[in-house]
Amino acid sequence: MKVLNFINGELQEAVNGQSMDNYNPAKGEVYAQVPDSDHQDVHLAYDAAQAAYPNWSVLPAEEKFKYLNAIAEGIDKRRDEFALAESIDQGKPFWLAKNEMIRSAQNFRFFATAAMQFASESHATEDRAINYTLRQSIGVVGCISPWNLPLYLFSWKIAPALAAGNTVVAKPSEFTPATAHLLSEVCQEVGLPHGVLNIVHGLGPKVGQAMVEHPRIKAISFTGGTATGKHIAATAGPMFKKLSLELGGKNPNIIFEDADIEKAIKTTVNTSFLNQGEICLCGSRLLVHESLYDKVKEEMVKRAKALVVGDPQDEKTRVGAIVSKPHYEKVLSYIELAKQEGGRVLAGGEALHPEGFESGWFIAPTVIEGLGPACRTNTEEIFGPVITLMSFKTEEEALQIANATEYGLAATVWTENLTRAHRFASQLEFGIVWVNCWLLRDLRTPFGGAKSSGVGREGGWEAMRFFTEPKNVCIALK
Ligand code: NDP
Repeated sequence: MKVLNFINGELQEAVNGQSMDNYNPAKGEVYAQVPDSDHQDVHLAYDAAQAAYPNWSVLPAEEKFKYLNAIAEGIDKRRDEFALAESIDQGKPFWLAKNEMIRSAQNFRFFATAAMQFASESHATEDRAINYTLRQSIGVVGCISPWNLPLYLFSWKIAPALAAGNTVVAKPSEFTPATAHLLSEVCQEVGLPHGVLNIVHGLGPKVGQAMVEHPRIKAISFTGGTATGKHIAATAGPMFKKLSLELGGKNPNIIFEDADIEKAIKTTVNTSFLNQGEICLCGSRLLVHESLYDKVKEEMVKRAKALVVGDPQDEKTRVGAIVSKPHYEKVLSYIELAKQEGGRVLAGGEALHPEGFESGWFIAPTVIEGLGPACRTNTEEIFGPVITLMSFKTEEEALQIANATEYGLAATVWTENLTRAHRFASQLEFGIVWVNCWLLRDLRTPFGGAKSSGVGREGGWEAMRFFTEPKNVCIALK
């Protein structure tokens, strides 16, 4: 496969003619070439987006709706091809990639309708004046996304940016460019006007940095690691750019003594290991009431060991390959750290080499116990198929452990006690709290993290507000 930049409606190589290797993580082999673009391509993409902006921004909402819907249909029509590309590129099981392609198309469909429904407020100041808020598109905006849910998170940014009337320069992760390339083809197929969406492939410190530094890209929507987010904020802050930062997490999954235990355990296996644990919303710290601890531990260990790890294209596979060699090494190094910190590995804890995929980057689903809440294993993001188990005696203790991290993305709570569910949810320092469920998403709800997990929210009107500039107009009535 040859991945190309998509600038001004054309698929093209990087201006400097350079490309770099893209790996299939299940095989540990190069299988594609990706443009190794730099600031020159970002500048071309900006020029194209800027030229397209005057027409796109005033295009009637019905027309924007049609284009975004057509893109959704284009993804749906080629769903298996997209899913296979995502699975090979990222290492995730094909069946999971297929679900994500459905959800990526849904992102475009959802924001197509948002383009039609988005409205502004007006405020009557008694009989003296009427105020109304114009929510105007910003201009050219930048969207930067990570490798874990490549097309899903890419579309989650691009769709609202376009629906709100902006034109876009976007960069997917260099590790997972395949579906962004296929999306470029779909944009060509549906005749999206040239320059409305531009996709530049390449390294974060080159392409991403050039986007953040570009003086006329006025807003950046970024999803990725907290360290990168800090760097972006330091660059973009003094330029007074609008910033939306969706960053890392260290999510707790709390099981109370009154939980529906079978349901809690079944979902917790997913919460822990879905997509190799490479979902920002995965629970990596499992907190269990002491009365249930032994039972939950036994079940989690048994079920983690039973998960089929291997060929992402085999429908029996539950856990695929880790996205890249550096990330694989990072996850393994955290397992070593956990042991040094006194953790006992109850399941997994090692690299796997499934038959036919001996050179791939696989890690067995790993369950660790015996660590306190303040150690590095329990406070730093690992972002792999690794969970720790801790027990608690009281609700206060559970809350204290859950909140004892700099991150605040998502928490999951298992209890049948309604009062406790409300009380506990209100005290958790997280942007998202799930009670008796996980990953149940309504695209209208605010999505994002507290503390070091980010700034701002995506989803529904939050995303439409981020991608517009409010202007109040006050008209005197007398
Ligand atoms: P990174 O922060 O490494 O990268 C994210 C994106 O930023 C990539 O496209 C990357 O490019 C780019 N980038 C890197 N350096 C710069 C820079 N200096 N300027 C601009 N862009 C840059 O994150 P990962 O890709 O490793 O993704 C995993 C992280 O994402 C985890 O921390 C996870 O928690 C978080 N995440 C958060 C979510 C949320 O909603 N809060 C959702 C999903 C993931 P390149 O790939 O080329 O380095």
